[in-house]
Amino acid sequence: MSLILPRIYCASIATETNTFSKLTTDLSDFKNSFFAEPKKHPPTPTLCSAIFPLLRNLQKKKKIRLTEGTATWAEPGGLINSKTWNFLKNKVLNEIKNAGNLDIILLGLHGAMISNNCNDCEADLIDNIRQIVGTKIIIGATFDPHSHISNKILKNLNIITVFKKFPHTDYVETARECIKLSIKTFENKILPIISIYDVRMITILPTNKNPMKKFINKIKKIEKNKNVLSISIIHGFMAGDSPDLGAKIITIMDKDQKYGKSLSKKLGDELFSMRKNLAPKMFSANTAVLKAKKLSKNCSKPVLIADIWDNPGGGVAGDSTILIKKAITMDLKKVAVGSIWDPLAVNLCHEAGEGQYIDLKFGSKSSLNAGGIIKERILVKKIAKNVFQKFGKSLVPLGNSASIEFKNLEIVLNTNRSQAFSIDIFTLLGIDIKSKKILIIKSTNHFYNSFFPFVSNIIYASVNGIYPNNPKKNNYKNLKRKIWPIYENPFK
Ligand SMILES: [Zn+2]
Repeated sequence: MSLILPRIYCASIATETNTFSKLTTDLSDFKNSFFAEPKKHPPTPTLCSAIFPLLRNLQKKKKIRLTEGTATWAEPGGLINSKTWNFLKNKVLNEIKNAGNLDIILLGLHGAMISNNCNDCEADLIDNIRQIVGTKIIIGATFDPHSHISNKILKNLNIITVFKKFPHTDYVETARECIKLSIKTFENKILPIISIYDVRMITILPTNKNPMKKFINKIKKIEKNKNVLSISIIHGFMAGDSPDLGAKIITIMDKDQKYGKSLSKKLGDELFSMRKNLAPKMFSANTAVLKAKKLSKNCSKPVLIADIWDNPGGGVAGDSTILIKKAITMDLKKVAVGSIWDPLAVNLCHEAGEGQYIDLKFGSKSSLNAGGIIKERILVKKIAKNVFQKFGKSLVPLGNSASIEFKNLEIVLNTNRSQAFSIDIFTLLGIDIKSKKILIIKSTNHFYNSFFPFVSNIIYASVNGIYPNNPKKNNYKNLKRKIWPIYENPFK
């Protein structure tokens, strides 16, 4: 360790913008999800701000000198308004200007943030930081793989690390790697050179299953080689109309640019060759519910249906009632649903109180194709204020919540849009999932690790609704590159 302690500033601004979503994202969305002023970051990490607690730890051990900046995250939604983006960006830029001399700047970013005045917010932020601090300061950043990584982002970065896993359970590891490599760069122990390869495809890539599971293990082995500092896979985010949409391979080599380029291409070609087998098998709403009904008859554990597109983590409301209505029509028993975003219905349940029967209209209030509102006389089973579900070490706010019961269905209603990250979404609202036959949740894949031990089968339901889940039909205006599956052979 060098005797000169690196002077480090850190900040985190993150969200994932669904440019097709009708929900807008403004400062109140950041404040409702997560907003920590400098030095106010909680001791627990969030998905994109895991650098904070790790850096604090290094500061405690007297290995660095730390200046903490702002950290904020908004639950994914539609375009950020320009006022909000300018405010957040300038807040961080002013903090850097006032931080005195710095050696390293570390950022916890997502990489799919788009505002109505900027279609590459991360590049805009990093570019402005570079202009302030000059070329000698090291800038490192962590990203989510559901991002659009442009050359403009990479141009001004020394280090980039990206969650390898989806579910992103390795966010702390990713932050640790970014800090380690940035400090080594400062100490002149390495000379990082970043290469990127455009894989020209978009799909979903869960890493808890093959072929991605094997591919990630292979990459981790390659990372152990001398001169290979880091390898990242960008999955891309199909709901963000960005010129840079799509999968990429990013490698960081120590000095060796030639190998970095060839390795990025080699891994990219391998990923492209697997493109048709990467996404999980998906079923229509009707087939998914029928399948669950059949399977649940012979299973001691409940069958899980994941409503993968009505996932607030992808920028939609998370209030679709399509699967619930199918369950009612098919007269399914012992069903639990987590959750439906409906602040008004939650308020009414809280006003009524536990154990009361009320007439309630809930769900499907944000769009015309989310199944339609459900009107029922329901029992308010449990109410709870400021509920947080766990995702690894991170705490995700559900806001005030309630569980309701009718026709042998139990449904969780919440006020802060959030996907189902863990079984907490049921247990904290008094629902015993072991007593259920079928669980319906809103999440693409982050639910997996928590739910897997408690369910017999997982059915991925592709419910057509408000999410732009078919790249061939999405009306992209900014995406000009050819990518699969829009083009069968995008490299021609
Ligand atoms: Zn992600």
